[in-house]
Amino acid sequence: MHHPNIDIEISEVGLRDGLQSIDRIMPLEAKKAWIAAEAAAGVPEIEVGSFVPAKILPQLADTAEVVAFAKTIPGLTVAVLVPNFRGAENAMQAGADKITIPLSVSETHSLKNVRRTHAQMLDEVSRIAQLINGLPADKRPVFEGGLSTAFGCTLEGPIAESTVVALAEALMERGCTEVGLSDTTGYANPGQVKRLTKAVKAAVGDDKLTGLHLHNTRGVGLANVMAALDVGITTLDASLGGIGGCPFAPGASGNIVTEDLVYMLDSMGLKTGIDLDQLLAVRTIVEGALPGEPLYGFTPDAGLPKGYPKGYQPA
Ligand code: ZN
Repeated sequence: MHHPNIDIEISEVGLRDGLQSIDRIMPLEAKKAWIAAEAAAGVPEIEVGSFVPAKILPQLADTAEVVAFAKTIPGLTVAVLVPNFRGAENAMQAGADKITIPLSVSETHSLKNVRRTHAQMLDEVSRIAQLINGLPADKRPVFEGGLSTAFGCTLEGPIAESTVVALAEALMERGCTEVGLSDTTGYANPGQVKRLTKAVKAAVGDDKLTGLHLHNTRGVGLANVMAALDVGITTLDASLGGIGGCPFAPGASGNIVTEDLVYMLDSMGLKTGIDLDQLLAVRTIVEGALPGEPLYGFTPDAGLPKGYPKGYQPA
């Protein structure tokens, strides 16, 4: 979705990617406070949850209520993840603006996680597209096919770039409005980000791949962002405090830390629409709701540089 007066759009995924990797359940009221505060800080898009069965992810069982709340905030793009047709139905009923279905490029990973082959997942995508196309044009959510494990898989190891490209094309043929690439495992490097982004854009169209979901598992998250900017990526996922830290690398965050990403872009003069001071203050809400849970981020730890110019000026 395109927001005016913004160069780079940041999509906060802490409420989904972050909370799903923490056992503790954040109360609904805290989720609402978190969303309201980030939206007030200027974050244009928030992935507020996932429509998966409550017995699989009890942390996200209240996603419909969270969507309903987030929809009351003017101008905010409310995004959700759906694993299948049923999830998409629920997401549309709740009124989500953007629906992402993950398709794991590693078929081994797909079988293990959702017990579905690529062919079965693509059939699911077709059914969802049909459902969406039954709505009046102005009521249709953005339908993104998210290619997970696109940069490598913990089960299969390296992933052939030709497979990523072929699946991106298949997703578009089946009716997705756009595709995204996810570094689910934190394997991506800047050279690979450039190469794969260019290859997929060349296959599906420049405007059909605009967003990346990057992790910082091995410390190269922001380097990957710089590579992505070089090849025309304009939407980046990040999570406040990098919550949902990688269990295999203590002290390392999972997602890119929203605060560090905003600091980097803001200090370069790229408009994110986000007020950094206000964003940093949101951590208090998350800390209060998840006491003892580690929050990451270099910028929050070090503070802003003396006389920081605050590149962002409210429009
Ligand atoms: Zn992720």
